[in-house]
Amino acid sequence: MEFDYVVIGGGSAGCVLASRLSEDAAVSVCLIEAGPSDKSVLIHCPAGLAVLAKNGVANWAFATVPQRVARHLLEIAAREQEAEGGTLVARVSQQELADLAGSVREVVARALRELRDEGIVRVSRSGISVLDASALAAHAWPREISASRDVPASPM
Ligand SMILES: Cc1cc2nc3c(=O)[nH]c(=O)nc-3n(C[C@H](O)[C@H](O)[C@H](O)COP(=O)(O)OP(=O)(O)OC[C@H]3O[C@@H](n4cnc5c(N)ncnc54)[C@H](O)[C@@H]3O)c2cc1C
Repeated sequence: MEFDYVVIGGGSAGCVLASRLSEDAAVSVCLIEAGPSDKSVLIHCPAGLAVLAKNGVANWAFATVPQRVARHLLEIAAREQEAEGGTLVARVSQQELADLAGSVREVVARALRELRDEGIVRVSRSGISVLDASALAAHAWPREISASRDVPASPM
């Protein structure tokens, strides 16, 4: 199939654009939307927004860079603790963390400074020590942190 225009994303901007383009009967327009139908009552009832914000039904739930940094730190530290025992330490450079989080070193350094200032991690040459795994998990998954999530034990 061929179209004159392909609009990706049927959100506010995409729908307006596709609608305006298709006003010209001489052109064909394809609008592609990745999300599900918007028929859920949670979308049409204002009170439903509170529920939607917490689940993945109509929410891509993208994570911020600080959230991704916290997630990778927990994952790496837990993996290393499982393999070697001892305390929760992520032996990873800021650049490696930035690559994992899809960001740049400067942004990761800022996120780490904030975690350090809150007493959640300690940054040293040997790695990034997780001092408070529960607090780090709360940064990693701010809305959904719950007892059901498996958080590795912090060092005493
Ligand atoms: C809870 C909430 C309440 C809001 N209330 C208001 C309000 O009252 N008034 C107001 O003016 N604004 C409000 N906004 C803000 C408004 O919704 C956004 O500013 C607006 O929707 C942004 O439009 P957009 O077209 O840029 O993105 P979106 O509307 O988010 O559209 C992007 C679309 O692209 C789709 N998409 C993403 N990736 C792909 C892909 N790879 N392939 C195909 N499709 C893809 C997404 O599923 C989405 O449907 C609210 C936002 C939220 C979250």
